[in-house]
Amino acid sequence: MRAQNIHAREAPTRSCRPSSTSRLQLVVQTLYLAPIRFGYTTASVPALFGSKAPPASEVDMDKRAIEYEARRLQFEIWNSRELRYPLGVPGIPTLFDPRNVADHCGLYYEERERLDTDFHGGGEAAGLWRKDRSTILISRNFPYEVRRFTAGHEIGHFILHPHVGERTLHREFGFNAPRENRPALEREADYFASCLLMPRRAVISEFDARFGSKHPLALTETVAYHLKADAATLFSQPPGSLMFAESVARAEQFDRKRFSSLAKFFGVSPRAMAIRLDELVLVAAYLYA
Ligand SMILES: [Zn+2]
Repeated sequence: MRAQNIHAREAPTRSCRPSSTSRLQLVVQTLYLAPIRFGYTTASVPALFGSKAPPASEVDMDKRAIEYEARRLQFEIWNSRELRYPLGVPGIPTLFDPRNVADHCGLYYEERERLDTDFHGGGEAAGLWRKDRSTILISRNFPYEVRRFTAGHEIGHFILHPHVGERTLHREFGFNAPRENRPALEREADYFASCLLMPRRAVISEFDARFGSKHPLALTETVAYHLKADAATLFSQPPGSLMFAESVARAEQFDRKRFSSLAKFFGVSPRAMAIRLDELVLVAAYLYA
């Protein structure tokens, strides 16, 4: 990942473009914003999407910068909530729904039945970024979770990569292929989408409400039993497998409690949720590996 993409950008022309002023405001808000009641929880808003930068040991510098940009955007949206939602501020999954975030950024969001592209070999796209029209096009031919993630990814390009889509349409295909081997810019946009849709502190808060506040939740026979997962299968996974994290992401019960799964709550696929849980070290399939 390339940090210079995040910092070397055009002069801000929209409210959601980074600027030194907004960075300063962010610091002030982060340090001094009083706790505000927030819908379903009494946690303070900065606490929900991360009042502090993540520890340096946890993510590399580029990820920190990307998460910072996502959080800055979230603060902007939070600060305009009264104007935007005079009848009541919705929960985080709606507040940071990419359609609403796009609108905040002055971008158009459109859904089409299909997105067939005829350039560079063609193919059906999950999403298109039309920089020339400031428009995000999303295909309805993909599930709701994929549409949200694709749109979050396009907003990531808009914020992080001003040059992407400058000359041609930028298109996204379905996210079935292994994402690790994707180009750096694509992985950066993926990470932005992840931070936007699954804010760090909100994920921790929702995780705690379901699985308890002891982190990480380690794979044991008892945990597998409570997840209604097959312990033998989970224990036989190779290192690096996200199967346990996915079981947690899609779990709708634990220790006699029933709830909406984390993946459903945040409106993402179990896979995307699992990657975030793993990254935030909320789950551990191999404590002693
Ligand atoms: Zn992309």
